[in-house]
Amino acid sequence: MTATIIDGKAFAAKVRAQVAEHVARLKGQGITPGLAVVLVGEDPASEVYVRNKGKQTVEVGMNSFEHKLPAETSEAELLALIARLNADPAVHGILVQLPLPGHLNSDLVINAIDPAKDVDGFHISNVGLLGTGQKAMVPCTPLGCLMMLRDHLGSLSGLNAVVVGRSNIVGKPMAQLLLGDSCTVTIAHSRTKDLGAVCRGADILVAAVGRPEMIPGDWVKPGATVIDVGINRIERDGKKKLVGDVDFASAVEVAGAITPVPGGVGPMTIACLLANTLTACCRANGLPEPEGLTA
Ligand code: NAP
Repeated sequence: MTATIIDGKAFAAKVRAQVAEHVARLKGQGITPGLAVVLVGEDPASEVYVRNKGKQTVEVGMNSFEHKLPAETSEAELLALIARLNADPAVHGILVQLPLPGHLNSDLVINAIDPAKDVDGFHISNVGLLGTGQKAMVPCTPLGCLMMLRDHLGSLSGLNAVVVGRSNIVGKPMAQLLLGDSCTVTIAHSRTKDLGAVCRGADILVAAVGRPEMIPGDWVKPGATVIDVGINRIERDGKKKLVGDVDFASAVEVAGAITPVPGGVGPMTIACLLANTLTACCRANGLPEPEGLTA
């Protein structure tokens, strides 16, 4: 069997087009969704992410507000900026690019964002809302995975889902979303015994580990849907390459469907950030939320 490739790049383009359509309609009512991105310091990878976010925000017709602060910015200065953005009605979404420089307390900073504008979904209130099945802002990467799973499988109800990885930004919210869609969910991690056997029970296997090609094809249940969140930079045959947490070459022979790396989960993350900003804007204005763009 050769798996269907779930094309995240094409799916993300579709999501962005849907967002753009909604934005055009909102603008007709005099409302322009706005996303503020805050970058502290000069981490080159973060600068690339922030640039891409800004570009795609403008492309869907939203306002993009970029705040670049020097690495030595104090916590008080950063919190003051967040307070200003919280109070600004033109800003519907606020994202503080992580990681922050070591002298800044990320938890404190993230929890200072108005939960209604927390488009990354990392604020403790949103974590609690998601965990209790209430309307939340949902972290972008797991939201993108959920959208692709729903699109590919339709109903997820009753399926066995295994999430490998228990981070706050991917593994745990992913597990909550799958539970919300009535999967039977197992969360695996570095202490899990016989991970291969656990994975082989999965109808849906989500890998969010950060270890290149760690999950081989013989850990995949025949016909399973595999979502590979991993982004690992490796060097092979003298060339730099991006690979996932799943060994694509062997898994593609066993799985029913699989996301490639690159071109799978990655492009969905920014698309979902834009979707979350749109959702936040609709909620702030008491308008109905766009269908299919939230959990
Ligand atoms: P993380 O915070 O480092 O968490 C990794 C998780 O994997 C931990 O829960 C860890 O378990 C588990 N783990 C590590 N080694 C393991 C092993 N040998 N067996 C089983 N589990 C193991 O990473 P993350 O932030 O969740 O990111 C995971 C991957 O997704 C990375 O490659 C990252 O680059 C990628 N990512 C991609 C996107 C995207 O847009 N596509 C977004 C975010 C992250 P313990 O908790 O027991 O240590």
